[in-house]
Amino acid sequence: MRLDVLMVVHFNEDMLAGAVDAEVFAAAERLLAGGAVGSFADATGGATAIVQVGQGHPVEVWVGIVHGGLDTECDCDAGRDDLCAHAVAVTLAALRSGFTWSSGATPPSEAVEPEVRELVEAADRLSRRRLTMLVATHASTDRRLRTRLLVEAGQLGPLARPEADQLRQTLNAIATEATTGWWQMPDVVTAGEAIISELEIISERSASMSALLLVEHAATLWDGLAAHLFDDWEHYEGVPEEMGARVRAVHLQLCERLQPDPDELAERLNRIIGSAESVSCLDAPHDYAPFRNRA
Ligand SMILES: [Zn+2]
Repeated sequence: MRLDVLMVVHFNEDMLAGAVDAEVFAAAERLLAGGAVGSFADATGGATAIVQVGQGHPVEVWVGIVHGGLDTECDCDAGRDDLCAHAVAVTLAALRSGFTWSSGATPPSEAVEPEVRELVEAADRLSRRRLTMLVATHASTDRRLRTRLLVEAGQLGPLARPEADQLRQTLNAIATEATTGWWQMPDVVTAGEAIISELEIISERSASMSALLLVEHAATLWDGLAAHLFDDWEHYEGVPEEMGARVRAVHLQLCERLQPDPDELAERLNRIIGSAESVSCLDAPHDYAPFRNRA
């Protein structure tokens, strides 16, 4: 929705109240009073916050000043031109907390790659039922999308210990089979791909310590496989590095979200790096600097 704010500096609660339906404003006040509005994060010049909605799924709201007017985006089904109670609640909370409005904010839906935006426009043209079918059909054949869908729908939580143990067995088997009996170098690449895609699927879920430890175990498996590719550098120059970087990306993302104990992390990293036959994919001190103990 769009509400013109003539002078951004003077944007205040009264202006908001004056532009919003009294009922919506009251609902927003109730959300705020009930502690439904989570903490703010800066995003593309505006503010985002999660709003808890009764029994339903929480919605993510973005509010910001775009071209001198208040712009909002919300996960709820409010139309583009409607100012929903969630957006009003977040705007109110931002005003009351003295949030610094940037005059050049970019709504999240516009802060995407041009190619994605084009597809968003196409998706916008579909009915909800057709879009739902399209997503579900694709998710049934694409495990990463399937995971993302279930996570976003609140039906799949973080990776827990029993599931992680089972996956560990699966990954071990993939790595062992690749270099057992009569094998060729492409088998190593295929096994690596299989292991890394499992990790990338896990990365779509909420972070957990079980996930972090599983990824570290997978890193040692990959290091073992990668050693063969490093040996055959004439054919595989750059390949183990590129694939290893994907393992590291998943690991770094989990570290970012979990902020693991720096000493314990350093100890595990040293062990992984030390046991690698060749270079370990987690041997990137610069990337891990933010997670090091600064004491
Ligand atoms: Zn809403």
